[in-house]
Amino acid sequence: MTSEPEFDAIVVGAGFAGIYALYRLRGRGLKVRVIEAGAGPGGTWYWNRYPGLRCDAQSMTYSYSFSDEVQQEWTWSERFAGQAEILRYINYVVDRFALRSDMQFETRVTRAAFDEICGRWMIETDRGERFIARFCVMATGCLSIPNLPGIKGLEGFGGALYHTADWPKQGVDFSGKRVGVIGTGSSGVQSIPIIATQAKHLTVFQRTANFSIPARNRPLRPEEVRRWKANYQALREKCRRSPFGDVYDQAEKSVFDVSAEEGRRMLEEAWTKGSFAFITIFKDILTNQAANDVVVAFVNRKIREAIKDPAVAELLCPKDVPIGAKRLCIDTGYYETFNRANVRLVDLKENPIREIRVDGLVAGEESFALDAIVFATGFDAMTGALFAIDLRGRGGVALKDKWVEGPRTYLGLAVAGFPNLFIVAGPGSPSVVTNMVLSIEQHVDWITDCVAFLRRRGLESIEATPESEIAWTRHVGEVAEPTLFVTVKSWYVGANMPGKPQVIYPYLGGAEKYREICEDIVAKGYVGFRLNPAAESRAG
Ligand code: FAD
Ligand code: NAP
Repeated sequence: MTSEPEFDAIVVGAGFAGIYALYRLRGRGLKVRVIEAGAGPGGTWYWNRYPGLRCDAQSMTYSYSFSDEVQQEWTWSERFAGQAEILRYINYVVDRFALRSDMQFETRVTRAAFDEICGRWMIETDRGERFIARFCVMATGCLSIPNLPGIKGLEGFGGALYHTADWPKQGVDFSGKRVGVIGTGSSGVQSIPIIATQAKHLTVFQRTANFSIPARNRPLRPEEVRRWKANYQALREKCRRSPFGDVYDQAEKSVFDVSAEEGRRMLEEAWTKGSFAFITIFKDILTNQAANDVVVAFVNRKIREAIKDPAVAELLCPKDVPIGAKRLCIDTGYYETFNRANVRLVDLKENPIREIRVDGLVAGEESFALDAIVFATGFDAMTGALFAIDLRGRGGVALKDKWVEGPRTYLGLAVAGFPNLFIVAGPGSPSVVTNMVLSIEQHVDWITDCVAFLRRRGLESIEATPESEIAWTRHVGEVAEPTLFVTVKSWYVGANMPGKPQVIYPYLGGAEKYREICEDIVAKGYVGFRLNPAAESRAG
């Protein structure tokens, strides 16, 4: 007997994933507790509050589909909703289903270990609490551990330091300030245009130029919202049956199936419409270098047209990087920002940051006086949040040690030797290369159905077999091999963090294909998993 509170399931994280996991598991009659480090729900949308943040999947699709009531009741104001609106939506869903009472905030899970004697997870928090649970759901996020580069002198900076992923709740007033932004990924590309309008002077420190496509954000028209709502079921189904989990039509033609003139016309039209749809207009952009080159030439021409200073334009044109193989950025007025008199672009390839000093930073031979530095330097993606927990399976094996050469999962949601532990949108799942809310719903539905199956059959636990884990990880690698994703250094391949194993992290076979595989595995009686009756689970 122990005095620790016991739950059927502990869910770690209260972003889109943890919230939906609570809703579904509680709906199956489980006693669930969600533990969240932040002071409220929202995950990504709680922590990242930098100016300019909005979703880059369309609001109408970047939202829960599980409740028709919710999708009818809620009305998005813009094509790409801003952070505050998304956070309001998340809180609305939490309250709509009275989920808050089963959530514990301002608490970080520090350890989760499988106890083989009692067949339960022992969970510890930074508040010194201990919980016992049969199931443990890691809804800890793919992009929830900010990467703050260890630049010499950082701690001695006399001005204000910010990371886009840990933004002050009350906002930041940059007026009259000399600001430096380090990083030009999605977070930099979204925040730079807004910071430029607020700051006295903005210096953008760019290491690698990225491709960015105009969002063409705008208010949603009442008649299009009505049309969406009238057809929501069908549109959601279209998303589920697509590779990226969105409504964009799937291209049937290669760049080379159309004349050069027709190709240019199609690209022009896609550029005018904006959004991720741009990268889906030809079927081979992400797999054929020559096809990709055609699109790269088009986008680089657009960049050169947008920028007045040809030298700055050249710096902003990505070099030797296929478009889309690194996460494509979606912007509002990014390139035009570099025409402003108060904005300067610094090329870190030519002039690397040497140190941060009390009054600014030194890049190459030049000193930059700064009142504030914004790190838009990304995340320890996909494995960072899992490794931040002392996560131990059978035999006390730490996940960190098991994955020392790169993550090994079955379907991105289960790990051999970690019974009844599920990862939502983990490495080896399509997650980050799709509309993530859709992928999260698919994973949580799968997990909930699995838990219900175990209970129905009187089974104690489920765990991936080592063989299925090896085979899936090999498959994830094989699917990635013919794509251009593996030709580029990006966080998709672990290249953004020093010392991180460089393997492909997400599954690139597409959301639809992945869903079919998951469904097939269930139809075959959870093939690839070991289903343990009570006594066996405990014996191992
Ligand atoms: P998160 O939202 O990251 O939530 C995880 C939560 O777990 C966090 O709140 C964290 O505090 C908590 N947590 C982690 N570890 C612990 C612990 N040990 N103890 C307690 N709590 C813990 N995806 C898209 O598809 N479209 C977009 O437009 C899009 N825009 C994005 C913009 C930004 C700035 C970022 C960073 C990501 C974006 N993403 C987007 C990806 C986004 O992360 C997902 O869409 C989605 O919000 C992830 O939800 P989640 O619940 O899986 O994880
Ligand atoms: P990111 O894409 O990893 O970009 C980080 C940027 O910081 C890169 O330009 C990188 O340069 C630079 N950088 C990192 N370390 C550096 C260092 N030591 N010195 C100088 N520069 C350094 O991170 P992110 O922009 O936060 O985006 C991460 C992901 O979150 C996105 O890919 C996307 O999935 C999601 N996101 C989505 C949106 C949206 O539009 N809805 C917005 C933000 C984020 P290198 O390229 O040279 O490494």
